[in-house]
Amino acid sequence: MPARNILVINCGSSSIKFALVNEAHSQFALSGIAERLGHPEALLRWQRGGEQDSLMIPGADHRAALAQLLPLVQGAAGGKLHGIGHRVVHGGERFTRAHRIDAQVLEAIRATAPLAPLHNPANLLGIEAALKLYPTLPQVAVFDTAFHQTLPEHAFRYALPESLYREHGLRRYGFHGTSHRYVSHRAAEMAGLAFGDSSWLSAHLGNGCSTCAIVNGQSRDTSMGLTPLEGLAMGTRSGDVDPNLHAHLNRSLGWSLERIERLLNHESGLLGLSGLSNDMRSLEQARDQGHAGATLAIEVFCYRLAKSLAALSCALPQLDGLIFTGGIGENSPLVRSKTVTHLKLLNLSLDKAANARCIRGVAGAIHTQGHPRVLVVPTNEERQIALDTLTLLDH
Ligand code: AMP
Repeated sequence: MPARNILVINCGSSSIKFALVNEAHSQFALSGIAERLGHPEALLRWQRGGEQDSLMIPGADHRAALAQLLPLVQGAAGGKLHGIGHRVVHGGERFTRAHRIDAQVLEAIRATAPLAPLHNPANLLGIEAALKLYPTLPQVAVFDTAFHQTLPEHAFRYALPESLYREHGLRRYGFHGTSHRYVSHRAAEMAGLAFGDSSWLSAHLGNGCSTCAIVNGQSRDTSMGLTPLEGLAMGTRSGDVDPNLHAHLNRSLGWSLERIERLLNHESGLLGLSGLSNDMRSLEQARDQGHAGATLAIEVFCYRLAKSLAALSCALPQLDGLIFTGGIGENSPLVRSKTVTHLKLLNLSLDKAANARCIRGVAGAIHTQGHPRVLVVPTNEERQIALDTLTLLDH
C-alpha cells in the first residue's frame, strides 16, 4: 500500500493552520495558515518543498479558505488524500481518545463548548466546513484534553464542593495532551525504554506552557486545569494567581470580569512582567542588554516552571527523564539551564555543550553523565494527529 496522506487542520476563530502529513515522511508535503478570516485582508500562506507562497482571499470565511486550499492539498498529495485530522481543544470527560467524526461526536463537541467558549466553536467551524467540502473523506477529531483523562481523581479535582464537579464539570482537564504524548513517546524511544514502562516529566513551552507527569504511557498530572490559564507563567497568560484576585480587583479597582479576563489572558505572563514582549527570543536579547523587566520575566518564568516540575514529581514512581519541548523548550539553552539549576534536589544537571547544541529542531540528551536524563524533543502535534487519524482509518 502506498504511504497515505492526512490533512491536519487546526482552526481558530479567524485562522486555519494546516499541514499535509505523509506517513512515510517526516517533512510536511505542504503546510501553512489562512489568517484574518472574515476580514477584507484575509490571506492564505503556505510552504511546499522549501518554496513559500501566498494568496489574498478577501473576505473569505473558514469554508471559502478551505475551498481555496483544496487544489493545493490535492496537488501536494499527488491527488490522493486519505483523511482529515482536526485538532479539537476540549473533549471534556466524554473523549478519552481520538474519534471518527459523526453526528454524535459533533454534538458532543458542541456540548463541551461551555468549557472552551473561545476554542471549541472555532474548531467546529473548521470541522463543519471540511465535512461540506470533503463529504466522503474520513474525518477524525483529536482532543487536547484526551491524554489527561487518565489523571487520578486526587489530581483532577479542585477542593470545591462536589456538586460543582458533578453538575457543572468543574475539574482540572489539562491541555497540550497531543504534544505531551508525542514527546514522551519519542523520549522513551530515544532512551531505549518501553513507553509503557517508563516515567517522564515533560515541559511544553511555547506561547502557552504546561508541564505533565507521564507514567507508563499515561498522563498522571499536568499544570493546566479547567482552562489553559492555570499553572505556569506563559507568553501573555499569568498562570496561577491568588484565586481571590478577581474579587480584589473588582472591589479595589472596580474592574469588570471582562477586564480581568483580558488582564490574565492577554496582558500578563512574560509580556506583563517585562513590559516589553511575550516573545522569549526578544526577551533574551533585551536581557543581554541589561533590560531589568526582561531579566525578571525570565527569572520568574524559569522558577515557576521548576516549581511546577518539582510538584509534578509527586506523581512519579521514579524519574526516567525530563523533556523540554515547544518553541522555548526546543530553542532556549538559557531557559533550560536556569530551570534545571532550581532542580538540584532532583539531582538534575546539564552538560553545557550539549545544551547549547540542541536548538532549531535538533533533538538530544543534554544532561551530565551520571545524572537523570534531560532530553530536548521537538514536538510535532500535526504528526501525532495524523497518526491518530490513520489508526482510526485502519479500524
Ligand atoms: P511556539 O508557540 O511553540 O511556536 O513557541 C513560541 C515561543 O518560542 C516564543 O516565545 C518564541 O520567542 C520562542 N522561541 C522560538 N525560537 C527561540 C529562540 N531561538 N530562543 C528563545 N526562544 C525562542
